[in-house]
Amino acid sequence: MDNSADTALSGSRPGDTQDLVLVGGGLQNGLIAMAVLDRHPDARLTLVERGATLGGNHTWSLHSGYLPEGADRWVRPLIAHEWPRYQVMFPGLSRTLDHPYATIPSDHFHAVLSDRLAAAPNATLHLETEATAVHAESVTVRSAGGDLRAIDTQLVVDARGPAHGEHVQQAGYQKFVGLEVELEKPLDARAATTADLIDATVSQEFGYRFVYTLPLTPTRVLVEDTYFDDEPTLDIAPVRERVLAYAKRRGLTVAKVVREEHGVLPMPWRSNLTYSTRSPLIAGFAGGWFHPATGYSVPVAARLADHLATHLKSSEGVFGPAYRALVADQERQVHFGHLLNELLFTASKPKERWRIFAHFYGLPDPLILRFYGLAMTRADRLRFFMRRPPPGVKYRKAMTILPAWLAR
Ligand SMILES: Cc1cc2nc3c(=O)[nH]c(=O)nc-3n(C[C@H](O)[C@H](O)[C@H](O)COP(=O)(O)OP(=O)(O)OC[C@H]3O[C@@H](n4cnc5c(N)ncnc54)[C@H](O)[C@@H]3O)c2cc1C
Repeated sequence: MDNSADTALSGSRPGDTQDLVLVGGGLQNGLIAMAVLDRHPDARLTLVERGATLGGNHTWSLHSGYLPEGADRWVRPLIAHEWPRYQVMFPGLSRTLDHPYATIPSDHFHAVLSDRLAAAPNATLHLETEATAVHAESVTVRSAGGDLRAIDTQLVVDARGPAHGEHVQQAGYQKFVGLEVELEKPLDARAATTADLIDATVSQEFGYRFVYTLPLTPTRVLVEDTYFDDEPTLDIAPVRERVLAYAKRRGLTVAKVVREEHGVLPMPWRSNLTYSTRSPLIAGFAGGWFHPATGYSVPVAARLADHLATHLKSSEGVFGPAYRALVADQERQVHFGHLLNELLFTASKPKERWRIFAHFYGLPDPLILRFYGLAMTRADRLRFFMRRPPPGVKYRKAMTILPAWLAR
């Protein structure tokens, strides 16, 4: 952050003060913009994104039947593909869950969100504009042409993504390489309407590894290889080859690759995260509003978005009792997520990690949904440990982690 840049600024004109400035146009702030404009169509809202488009190059998936109450209205326009069911496969276990599953591709996210902002009378979108200084009541931005300007505001939400996740102290990593491919032959009716969420029958020499296959149209699928590793480096080329080999093995005849995405997501088990208590509100991954054990961040980010939309103009204010309750719950959920990550990455043998997930898919459906939604009850948390641990868990190591976790 370069605060010295503040000296050569042009400032806001009197009366231009915004209700809300959103720094970073990714998942979190996209959901906040949708939620706020849904409730307050005339909110004075500015969104600042350094990239040329909103959302980067991502496919965000979610369990679409499990969103905060009322959020469906403003999340749904962002969804481009939805399936009525999904299936998971492990050696010795195959299960279909009749839960809807959906995807938000970033090009669709960009189109819907930029239209929404353009249609709102007092909303402004700055693309190719970098926030260079973020304060409680102003954000300094630099445009692509190099001009600096300060935007005054009542509230700042700073969601600049995982690269700003300085709170992470110890973590494993989930790595992804996905290819969106056009097929020569269309999928059959069942394959075209079922999301293959986890195929962990693939080789496991990299730690827990699985492939997911999302049928976007009968002739276009996203095939994504993902694995959990101790190191953050990602060598993309061999994983790309693995994806193509997998597609071939599945009988998917690839005519051409139309898009590629990749990324590395930290899965922390120790962090020095403190949730914001005043503006700027650090949100998204950087602020701890994500799912530490799965990466599935939509429900968590949507809860925060819903809160902001509800309280932006309320007498209680954004940081009142409702916010403190939301933070307390998120802290509890994240604390448990940290335990699961530590057990996975330090107390189980890499080749055997898949067994923990197969074990998990033996649990009842509602618990599985609450787990993905990061909305587990105390009883849910206990149920994780009421069954015999799967083979591959280093029992003694696990027994040293549990008391240390309880004491944290
Ligand atoms: C490969 C991959 C796959 C994933 N799949 C899923 C999934 O299927 N479902 C799911 O829920 N989650 C998924 N996640 C996790 C999810 O993407 C993140 O947890 C979530 O994006 C965090 O949202 P965010 O808004 O904090 O950050 P991002 O979505 O990363 O957005 C941050 C934005 O800030 C912008 N920015 C950064 N610095 C500045 C600056 N100085 N000025 C202006 N703009 C700036 C960036 O350009 C970016 O657009 C995945 C993550 C990865 C890496």
